[in-house]
Amino acid sequence: MQHHMHACVAAVSASDTIRRMQKAIKTIAERLAAAKSGVAFTGAGISTESGIPDFRSPGGIWSKFKMVYFDDFLARHEARVDYWRMHKAGFEAFAAAGPNKGHEVLAKWEREGRLAGIITQNIDGLHQAAGSRRVQQLHGTARVVSCLSCGREWPSPAIYQQYENDDNVPVCEHCGGWLKPATISFGQALPEEVFECSCAWADESDVFLAIGSSLVVQPAAMIPVRAARRGALLVIINRDPTPCDDMADIVLRKPIGETLASIDVALDAYRSAGGS
Ligand SMILES: [Zn+2]
Repeated sequence: MQHHMHACVAAVSASDTIRRMQKAIKTIAERLAAAKSGVAFTGAGISTESGIPDFRSPGGIWSKFKMVYFDDFLARHEARVDYWRMHKAGFEAFAAAGPNKGHEVLAKWEREGRLAGIITQNIDGLHQAAGSRRVQQLHGTARVVSCLSCGREWPSPAIYQQYENDDNVPVCEHCGGWLKPATISFGQALPEEVFECSCAWADESDVFLAIGSSLVVQPAAMIPVRAARRGALLVIINRDPTPCDDMADIVLRKPIGETLASIDVALDAYRSAGGS
């Protein structure tokens, strides 16, 4: 008898959960449809669905390496050697990956004028590969290698190939400066104009979707907080709880691609029913 009771309770709460979920999806769609400035903020979680591992997680590729701080990279040859070994392992893991449903839905919303842009913590370039044009890369991009002295840039594969052949830390053929992937290392400042533009987008947004980010890496994680304080609808879609869940209007602990696709279906339905 007791078993039966439990089964009933479980069934009721499961359908409750589905109903709550459907209501949340509908609310997000309606608010996005009416938004003057929708903004998406993305982290590693959107790219794990493309098969890109979260490098820094326990057991992730980078957990086997010692983190190289930016000052150390500048100061010591051994640090530069460690850095390039670690980044080669990371680059191999995602060089072949392509955008997934989540990236594609966000690119579609930009084309439709529903999203003002994407602020991303990711360095994999998959938003651009999906067709997004207005992308702020807070932590830079691993698709490009640049010279720390003269600023010249190269597509990453060419430099990794050269590195593959001679195993030396790559230097600039023009000025002899150190080459480094155009990503932001620990201890390195975020590009100022990218950060300022991201903050401006957050301040102006009326719907802010924080997607696949644990919202713990600073100063990036303060951007969704800014949006919420300025009155934007804050939606958090992430597998695990985040420190910002309490200030969010809607929290969905669901797979990203599938959730964004559901919102997109609801948006299309809302539009054909006469919404904007
Ligand atoms: Zn140079």
